[in-house]
Amino acid sequence: MLNQLTISQLAAKLAAREVSAREATQACLDRIAAVDGRVHAFLSHDAADALVQADAADKALAAGEKKPLLGVPIAIKDVLAVKNQPLNCASKILGNFISPYDATAIEKLKAAGAIVFGRLNMDEFAMGSSTENSAFGVTKNPWDLARIPGGSSGGSAAAVAADEAIATLGTDTGGSIRQPAALCGCVGLKPTYGRISRYGLVAFASSLDQIGPFTKDVRDAATMLGVMSGVDPRDSTSVPQPVPDYTKALDGNIKGLKLGLPKEYMVGGLDPEVKAAVDAAVKQLEKLGAEIVEISLPHTEHAVAVYYIIATAECSANLARFDGIRYGARVDGADPIELYARTRGAGFGPEVKRRIILGTYVLSSGYYDAYYLRAQKVRTLIRNDFLKAYEKVDAIITPTTPTAAFKIGEKSDDPLQMYLSDIFTISCNLAGIPGLSLPCGFTKNPKLPIGLQLLGKPFGEETVLKLAHAYEQSTPWHKEKAPL
Ligand code: GLN
Repeated sequence: MLNQLTISQLAAKLAAREVSAREATQACLDRIAAVDGRVHAFLSHDAADALVQADAADKALAAGEKKPLLGVPIAIKDVLAVKNQPLNCASKILGNFISPYDATAIEKLKAAGAIVFGRLNMDEFAMGSSTENSAFGVTKNPWDLARIPGGSSGGSAAAVAADEAIATLGTDTGGSIRQPAALCGCVGLKPTYGRISRYGLVAFASSLDQIGPFTKDVRDAATMLGVMSGVDPRDSTSVPQPVPDYTKALDGNIKGLKLGLPKEYMVGGLDPEVKAAVDAAVKQLEKLGAEIVEISLPHTEHAVAVYYIIATAECSANLARFDGIRYGARVDGADPIELYARTRGAGFGPEVKRRIILGTYVLSSGYYDAYYLRAQKVRTLIRNDFLKAYEKVDAIITPTTPTAAFKIGEKSDDPLQMYLSDIFTISCNLAGIPGLSLPCGFTKNPKLPIGLQLLGKPFGEETVLKLAHAYEQSTPWHKEKAPL
């Protein structure tokens, strides 16, 4: 079935004119019709518009045009602007907002020929680890519908795992690409801070947010990264670093690469089955020629605390713009203050409110130095830990998550437990380095995917992709399909 193909498989069939973009798109739409009632990865999608884009791609293919994503259907997390499509961030506060323009990452996907369709479910404003904070219902894990798919990009991961799209986009502020990718058994890549422009991404925490792909294999992640990367005058944090052909790094040759195993990551709270899978993956990489070196990232233990100061501070500033005046929903009041309060009171869900209140508190005078400033200093120590480790190693290997997917409702009443599910992913964002999660096995009963995380040097995506690809090609995990 065409919806099950990877980008590279589908692109080859399209280029050979064996199949059409319309057929591939229709296969995804049929799959959505068949399974999304159960999975709820999509908030909405416009089938007619997807087919119009597919017909345009077929014309281009017939004319012999060659582009890396020509005719490939790709679905988008509901936090990225796609012209003339709804943009809600899975929140009620945006009302019936329709985006008037394309995010730069979307522009680049379109320029590469992709069919950009559908809005994928997420935690409201990307705050969460389970997609339970969506204002529009939870997404289910395709491997076990009683479980969460991870978050905040839960819809993006579930859609790929359920073969409802060939690939998807998500965003990662503290793990929101890698954690759901791990829990749904797909590949998720958070690039280096500054690698992909965030113009057109609704900001959660601007010093941490990055856009990245969810794909069925590592090669596709390399392709997507290459298409979306590059400096953008509309995002001053994007970096003018040359964009290599990332697929060229996938040569299987990892002999002599040094892989750091942080001793702080293989400790308490780590599920034994996850530990066993990661240990086996380390052995496998060693067998393939990598050299394993024990390293220490001593400030890791502060990462979650630092993150929940910095991320909430930034979110309290970024979300001030949702005031009932500029965008979306409005609840009227006698004066502007009452209008703001009523609109924000009705429009934001409980987790978003919790974060705005926390963030406002840590930035308030008298507390700024004690919390925010101190957190920024510890953030520098966390980054320095990584830079020091990278003097000795080429990449770092860790579990992506401490456990496999948990049950819907299991942690939703306990924010701290929920926050701890990102314990292995958060420091990567604080340090601004790239991180990738890929499947490395399954738990036994029930059978749930386990993710392996590879962290790279700043702009070291090629090494991360090379290692991930060599591992993937020597193991069977990525070939398994969710039993839907
Ligand atoms: N789960 C983390 C949070 O709730 C990370 C979210 C993200 O990466 N967007 O903030």
